[in-house]
Amino acid sequence: MLKYISNKGGVEPVDFEKAILDGFAADGGLYVPQTLPQVSAEQLIKWKDLSYLQLAFEVLSLFIDRSIVSEVELKQLLDSAYAPFERREIIPLHPLKSRKDTYIMELFHGPTISFKDIGLAFLVNLVNFFLQRKDQHLSLIVATTGDTGPATAYFSAGKSNIDAWVLYPKEMITPEQERQMTSLQHANIHPFAVSNCPEGGDDLDAVISKLYANQAFKEKLQLSSVNSINWGRVMMQTVHYFYAYLQVTDQVGEQINLSVPSGGFGNLCAGALAREMGLPIKNLLAANNQNSCLERIFSTGTFSKEALINTESSAIDILIPFNFWRYLYFKVDGDSQRIKAWMDEFKVSGALQFDPQVFASYSQGFLASSVSDEQTLTLINEIYSQEGYLLDPHGAVGLGASDNLSGQLGDEKLVVLATAHPAKFPQTIRRALNSSELPQDASHHSIESAKSYSQKVHLCDYQVLEPALIHAMQSNWELTKGQ
Ligand SMILES: *Cc1c(COP(=O)(O)O)cnc(C)c1O
Repeated sequence: MLKYISNKGGVEPVDFEKAILDGFAADGGLYVPQTLPQVSAEQLIKWKDLSYLQLAFEVLSLFIDRSIVSEVELKQLLDSAYAPFERREIIPLHPLKSRKDTYIMELFHGPTISFKDIGLAFLVNLVNFFLQRKDQHLSLIVATTGDTGPATAYFSAGKSNIDAWVLYPKEMITPEQERQMTSLQHANIHPFAVSNCPEGGDDLDAVISKLYANQAFKEKLQLSSVNSINWGRVMMQTVHYFYAYLQVTDQVGEQINLSVPSGGFGNLCAGALAREMGLPIKNLLAANNQNSCLERIFSTGTFSKEALINTESSAIDILIPFNFWRYLYFKVDGDSQRIKAWMDEFKVSGALQFDPQVFASYSQGFLASSVSDEQTLTLINEIYSQEGYLLDPHGAVGLGASDNLSGQLGDEKLVVLATAHPAKFPQTIRRALNSSELPQDASHHSIESAKSYSQKVHLCDYQVLEPALIHAMQSNWELTKGQ
């Protein structure tokens, strides 16, 4: 049976179910599969014509033991997870007219119109399935830069084995994203608007880590998380790399490039693991905005935390790409002692310089670039005027990075991951198009209808977030569990 271990090496191997329900490993590390399954060219050829859901079933079956989730159960979980998606293909690929061999992979056709729906639709369903089977309850807690929150809230709403606590930095996400979280009426959804976070979502993650470290509280409230430290998110996100590859290539074996707007490195980690599994990806492009931590990691071998800059692509205003540690584990041949030493050192110093050998190993097949707000706005305008296709600011960062790196790319096909629908960022679209009028493509019925719903939210200052959360979570537990 495939077991899961912590990349810091401090826990005994666990089965898939425990890895999913724990979120973080007990030693503060990230769960990784003990061995990474391999996919042969013959296998890829057999998968060539599969739908997204059929392919997801095949890829996930490599990671999930049948004794834990049966074939029938896995199919049902996938079907129900993706039922609310608006497009039959789940993830359509849109070829650009004004660029050669360039495809926009639209990851935003789920119910909360960002790519977070892809991972969370399945993961929250899976968590709930495990909890129902064990007759247990979990308090899920996530921090969001705007998109994890709505998706977690949507998929948790009304699930009686889950309470979802969703923390967001007030004024650092768009009003549309805020409404998505606060307009759900279900009693098990608890949005927390946190004022005065100097470092945005990263600040909220720090408080969540403290709650985790509080063993008594963690156990009493059955605390867990579905943020991208959860293996289930990364695992699910490997599927869209396989899917994109099989959709755009003429022949298995051909190589492609993919450009990924990135913050926490969850999505890119999934792409890197898909390549380690055997998918013929030539380059993965780490597309940053001006919060350029990944650009530093992949261009200079420096992992350092700098001050937060608020940008037009706010979902990737993230300082620490935490999933980089998960990827790095595989690039140092599973040397968990080294990972532990680096993670511990980074926690204290906020800066690391990797030695040339390590840098060469992890940066192979990666290119990185950061894209300014000005370039982002110009590109949205350009693609819209040239071909009537409206990119969101994150998709534009992805395309912008590939423009910046074009000199280093060959003539392979390019897939740019578009991670959000423009309707989440109407102010940015107005600025990009120099117009107070929004085109039809910049609105979405789910955002429009939420405007006539009331909002329900906890308000709190960052200074008191930890005690305020403990109080709110404890009160809710006592009220609903009658203890
Ligand atoms: C979360 C998010 C990203 C970044 O994904 P990571 O896995 O954190 O790198 C990019 N774009 C949008 C719109 C997002 O919501």
